Amino acid sequence: MIAATMMDFPLTLSHVLERAGALFGSTEIVSRLPDRSLHRYTYREFHRRVLALAAALQGLGLRKGDRVATLMCNHYAHLEAYLAVPCAGGVLHTLNLRLHPDDIAYIANHAGDRFLIIDDALLPLYEKFSKLTAFERVIVVRMSAEANALGDDYEQLIAANPVFTPPALAETDAAGMCYTSGTTGRPKGVVYSHRSIVLHTLATATVDYIGVSRADTLCPVVPMFHVNAWGLPYTALMVGAKLAMPGPHLDAVSLLDLYEAERVTITAGVPTIWLGIQQALEHEPERWRLTRGMRMVVGGAAVPEALIRALDRYDLQVIHGWGMTETSPVGLVNCTKGELKDRGDRDEELSYALRTKQGVPLPFFEIRAVAEKGVAPWDGKTMGELQVRGPWVAASYHELAEGIEQWTADGWFRTGDIATIDRAGYVNITDRIKDLVKSGGEWISSIELENALVSHAAVQEAAVIAVPHPKWGERPLGVVVLKAGMNVTRKALNDHLGPRFASYALPDAYVFVAEIPRTSTGKMMKAKLREAYKNWSWS
Ligand code: ADP
Repeated sequence: MIAATMMDFPLTLSHVLERAGALFGSTEIVSRLPDRSLHRYTYREFHRRVLALAAALQGLGLRKGDRVATLMCNHYAHLEAYLAVPCAGGVLHTLNLRLHPDDIAYIANHAGDRFLIIDDALLPLYEKFSKLTAFERVIVVRMSAEANALGDDYEQLIAANPVFTPPALAETDAAGMCYTSGTTGRPKGVVYSHRSIVLHTLATATVDYIGVSRADTLCPVVPMFHVNAWGLPYTALMVGAKLAMPGPHLDAVSLLDLYEAERVTITAGVPTIWLGIQQALEHEPERWRLTRGMRMVVGGAAVPEALIRALDRYDLQVIHGWGMTETSPVGLVNCTKGELKDRGDRDEELSYALRTKQGVPLPFFEIRAVAEKGVAPWDGKTMGELQVRGPWVAASYHELAEGIEQWTADGWFRTGDIATIDRAGYVNITDRIKDLVKSGGEWISSIELENALVSHAAVQEAAVIAVPHPKWGERPLGVVVLKAGMNVTRKALNDHLGPRFASYALPDAYVFVAEIPRTSTGKMMKAKLREAYKNWSWS
């Protein structure tokens, strides 16, 4: 037997922090503040302040494994907490500021959060649920002009510059936590370890996946309270990329201004953000000089082909990815492998069809699609539930006995998504199990219909939902938001879909609405739509 191989070196975020300070001291972190001014400092200053914050938290009594909640938007102070909390031995719990106050309170209590770090602009929100929670300390980041006496002052804690005594950290120690957004029932807590975050960071940074480098300027539009902003802040710090943080200003014009001013090369967010960007660019095509070939990482919901095509016209390159809170989140990225790219270069239709798929699994992330008859072949046709496993996939939920059925007996996590996998390993998510339309024994993919509908010139947004039907069990109903001043008939929409779908898959009826309800993370609330139209009369 060989006694020892390599060093047992823990994969912790302290290494990411120290590396950022030692190697990339002059790299900038720019944040847009509530008053729209730009706050700027370097990694060197960031590193110093993170250590001061970590020490201050220890001074306030933070113990190993204690949860520290944040209620903040994307800016330098949130980034400081991203590193200071786990490096001090705590667990960073990012609270979703778009949730109902009662839900925020439920989540903070369920997680057992001891401390809260909060933007002063969000204190009115905090006041709505403060009576329901029991934070021992509330630390306020003051950025707005209004004075507020509540809590400890973030800057004063840092200015005291206490000495940090790094705790011994094991790579399996908890480092962060995030609750699922609750599209599928009560929010469930997922706890990330130092090791899972480090491995996720390494894997996403590789060039065939998200591929972030020291030469990049990265702008995470995806909120830092949504699955660690897809891990991108950690990725940037590990490779030494400049960060441009949008703060609370997430409208298309503010984002485009920031991209131009800071020469952003890579940005990330959900499809609805890019629909807004597309409209702003169409409205004023000459206004902004963006970096050519800027990459837009898009995930959280399927990316319509029409959006990829539209952004291509502005030389903005969509990188489509898939993930879940339970998978840290990134599991699949569409990186168009060599041989497929060659085929795609010769055939534009094929290229776009490929790019709308969710992509191939990252290294160490394993996938299978499980149909009723067992594991589905990789034939691009057979639909099954996507099941995954890997070092950054949750093994259980935080203090929750229910939900255990999400894991199979042989150790895979059931995503609840229906997918096909093609011969080259590209996954196409066709639906969430509960959103599938089951008509007369056939499965109809609502995502594919929605993507095709938004490529119609009159359609702004579309949802396709299952509605009970006396003969077929369920039939698809299209819920459509039209572009301003546009009109369209059912026949025109179905003629548009006709060439791409079997006739049984076409919606039997459409309703036209002013907007489609969305969750706090930008997903369409189909459950709400199903409820609203459950008594639809098909006659
Ligand atoms: P929740 O599960 O509470 O809605 P998540 O943010 O974890 O919150 O959502 C994960 C789900 O989002 C996935 O299971 C999938 O249904 C959907 N999703 C994420 N990315 C994509 C994508 N690129 N295409 C289609 N669906 C996606």
